[in-house]
Amino acid sequence: MSIATRINLSAPWIDERDEELVLEVLRSGWLSLGPTGPRFEALLADAIGVPHCAAVSSGTAGLHLCMRLAGVEPGDEVITSPYSFVASANCAIYEGATPVFADIDPHTYNIDPAAVEAAITPKTKALVAVDIFGYPAEYDALIPLCEKHGIALIEDACEALGATYKGRRLGSHGHPAAWAFYPNKQMTTGEGGAVTTGNAEQHELLVSLRNQGRLETSSWLQHGRLGYNYRLDDVSAALGIGQLEKLDRILEARSEVASRYGELLRDVDVETPLADDPDHTRSWFVYVVKLPSAVDRNEVMARLDREGIATAPYLPSIHLQSYMRERYGFSEGMLPVSEDCSARTMALPFHARLERSDQERVADALRTALA
Ligand SMILES: *Cc1c(COP(=O)(O)O)cnc(C)c1O
Repeated sequence: MSIATRINLSAPWIDERDEELVLEVLRSGWLSLGPTGPRFEALLADAIGVPHCAAVSSGTAGLHLCMRLAGVEPGDEVITSPYSFVASANCAIYEGATPVFADIDPHTYNIDPAAVEAAITPKTKALVAVDIFGYPAEYDALIPLCEKHGIALIEDACEALGATYKGRRLGSHGHPAAWAFYPNKQMTTGEGGAVTTGNAEQHELLVSLRNQGRLETSSWLQHGRLGYNYRLDDVSAALGIGQLEKLDRILEARSEVASRYGELLRDVDVETPLADDPDHTRSWFVYVVKLPSAVDRNEVMARLDREGIATAPYLPSIHLQSYMRERYGFSEGMLPVSEDCSARTMALPFHARLERSDQERVADALRTALA
């Protein structure tokens, strides 16, 4: 085993077409605010099935802008999932609001609508629902809940490009959704992201906010509101076009790799990711397994590491990060389901071009480590 090459956690799919598109922009000399950004946005909007799309510099920037769309202010509360990437909660803190965590379902790993309802107070301004690991959150419960209580719904779809809920593509339900294109995501622009929405006014605001608060009518040094530099440059957008051209192939390949893992892990004592049902079609972002409670995850990870296999303790609960504990006094026991999942879940190497032989190595090493 020691001579075998290392199996990485993730890898982007970059080909000659991507290189060609990026070179074209480099040679044009028009590296930002050129024609390539809008072309990327139109293709992305089409892939998602939504009328408006604003490309931004990262998924985190996109979520931050969604807080501005929701009118989140100091003193407000924003409900979100503890079992997510920190950006889902940090975006609320950027605007002076307090993150409020609602516990999750132990199998979908998504926020539990009943826990959301229990967390609502008169200060609740927004809900950031996350489609964790590309699995759709329960929108038919969350949307009416937000409407009933007058709460803005924001979707963190950063892991879910291509997923569908009840036959509709995520992001096409009308409310704003944030997307991310870091190199470990389904498609990449290097760094980058987007916000999509069904609302033209929200789109106009997004375009202004990402561009230093400039108004549609203003000249370069006139700023109508407090904005940010959250623009996506045209070089990154060109890469995004190359990725979108092969998005179907990428998603299909990821789905095949995932079903191969399902077969290979059938006799291994782990809980594999929840299968799709008629209402939920996952877009495969990572392949996360849950180990039995009695197993020492660190030991399993160390053994796999010695076999040249990368893994990650995916995902830690956000409320237990040190800065969250210090700032808000959060501690163990607050969100038992999320904490139990965080203690037991582990990401295996996963990307579109992972070879079957490498997956066999992963499955064999995991089987041995657990025996
Ligand atoms: C990746 C990710 C983000 C943030 O994306 P960046 O582009 O890295 O800022 C936000 N939320 C979730 C759930 C993510 O997975």
